[in-house]
Amino acid sequence: MAQHAHNHHEHSGDNLIDAARESLVASGEQWTSMRSDVFEELARHDRPASAYDIADNLSAKRGKRVAPNSVYRILDLFVGNNLALRVESSNAYLANSHPGCTHDCIFLVCDECGEATHIDNDDISSKVRGVADGAKFNTRRPIIEIRGICSSCN
Ligand SMILES: [Zn+2]
Ligand SMILES: [Zn+2]
Ligand SMILES: [Zn+2]
Repeated sequence: MAQHAHNHHEHSGDNLIDAARESLVASGEQWTSMRSDVFEELARHDRPASAYDIADNLSAKRGKRVAPNSVYRILDLFVGNNLALRVESSNAYLANSHPGCTHDCIFLVCDECGEATHIDNDDISSKVRGVADGAKFNTRRPIIEIRGICSSCN
């Protein structure tokens, strides 16, 4: 997209897992086996996954119960380090396909199938930030999500 003057990379598959690991390690955090499992599980989902979904799948995979709370903590760490994105209106998470650069990502969330299409449009997000700044509001991050029906469900 035209607004990307920077070196923007979208990753997928093993390449995404490598990019996420490199990004986390570069910020001084460890890529533990549990963190790795949570990220792989997240990356496997093409729809936003809740901490409960991930905890269930990991419990089955690891053969012992993984508590949703420990998954939450890891997801929080991932969001804080730009490895995962939180879809607020679904209370769920997606692997961030661009861990190497920061955007105020926009989501189109389908009310039927739950799919969240990820769009980056820095023109729109900077306007939203500008409106908040104009109201003397100290913005942490804008949340821009559009609910509706996706093209497959139409
Ligand atoms: Zn970018
Ligand atoms: Zn994005
Ligand atoms: Zn749909």
